[in-house]
Amino acid sequence: MDTNTYKKEIELYIHIPFCVRKCNYCDFLSFPSNDDAQLEYVKALCAEIVYRGKNFSDYTVSSIYIGGGTPSCVNTRHIISIMETLADTFTINKEAEITIECNPGTVTREKLNIYKSLGINRLSFGVQSTNNDELKILGRIHDYKSFLVSLDSALHEGFDNISADIMYGLPGQTIETLRKTLKDIAKFNLKHISVYSLIIEENTPFYDRYYDDYILQCQGKLTSFLPSEEQLCEMTDFVGAYLRNRGYFQYEISNYSKRGYECLHNLGYWKRKEYIGFGIGAASLIDETRYANITDIDKYIKNYLRTNPISEYSERVNLTLDEQMSEFMMLGFRMVNGISTADFYNSFGRTIESVYKEQIDKLIGQGLIINDGNFIKPTYRGLELQNIIAREF
Ligand code: SF4
Repeated sequence: MDTNTYKKEIELYIHIPFCVRKCNYCDFLSFPSNDDAQLEYVKALCAEIVYRGKNFSDYTVSSIYIGGGTPSCVNTRHIISIMETLADTFTINKEAEITIECNPGTVTREKLNIYKSLGINRLSFGVQSTNNDELKILGRIHDYKSFLVSLDSALHEGFDNISADIMYGLPGQTIETLRKTLKDIAKFNLKHISVYSLIIEENTPFYDRYYDDYILQCQGKLTSFLPSEEQLCEMTDFVGAYLRNRGYFQYEISNYSKRGYECLHNLGYWKRKEYIGFGIGAASLIDETRYANITDIDKYIKNYLRTNPISEYSERVNLTLDEQMSEFMMLGFRMVNGISTADFYNSFGRTIESVYKEQIDKLIGQGLIINDGNFIKPTYRGLELQNIIAREF
């Protein structure tokens, strides 16, 4: 079918909640599994894609993101089933960005070759660090060498659009070890690098191990195994300067790319494009309503494997106009290019100044944003102090 006849675009997110084992800092919806559990889940997932997807025949898919969890740790036949079901259910734009998250050590050339044949054109590797001691502390299953082997396989299979996730603020990490990680990754000239600071989340082994230290450190009472606030700020500045000096463009707080290789899927979230999330816990934004799927995997499988499934959400929120505008501002200021005043007008039928003049003037006065007439953008300081910007909206 001619995709030009479709006007509306939508993004798809597919959640694979399986990992080889749980990392020490992870609070994502993911857990180890066996092949039977994977098979049941993927059957239910494909049933959900068909069931909910039938309402979107007048949309064209602009991006697909298979995330998790560790999608690359599941049997490749499951990825084949998912991609075939998506292709049968949706009209996928020929130029669509199709990403799969991979963890080093869980891909082979054969696997990557199949991904490529399925139309997957972007790989996102969870590298986190190239320092084996840091990887061990994080509880990752891989070491630096296995990343090199996986990357080599990806390059051999012709993947050009590759992203690496890196973490900083790790226990025991120093500017020197962070520099080494950045150097080890940047030398491959990958198209995209995401850099996140470690957050100690509740219900993780890290929380139990480091929380007391963390609190004391926030109160300035302890120089502990975790970097201090001051060191964290230094690391944040260091990452930005290091990557910018090596030709990377920071297009969002945590994301850097070569020009033209920004992650379209993520940009869509920040620009409030509509998206459907499939799988447990997955979120959707459709027609100004936010949905979150249930997180109970047994309930999810039971629902979608019966003859008459229903859409089961743990959350369904119809956004008011105020909430839509507020989201537009908060998400928009995550991006270096900021907010288009024309987009605001086109979305809400009123000028941005008529709604947010006071807040904009205040943030300009604080040096956190600038207004060039067409775009209102965060300054570098504003990017780092997102919470202050967000508070205004
Ligand atoms: S690989 Fe990612 S999703 Fe899986 S346990 Fe580790 S951090 Fe969590």
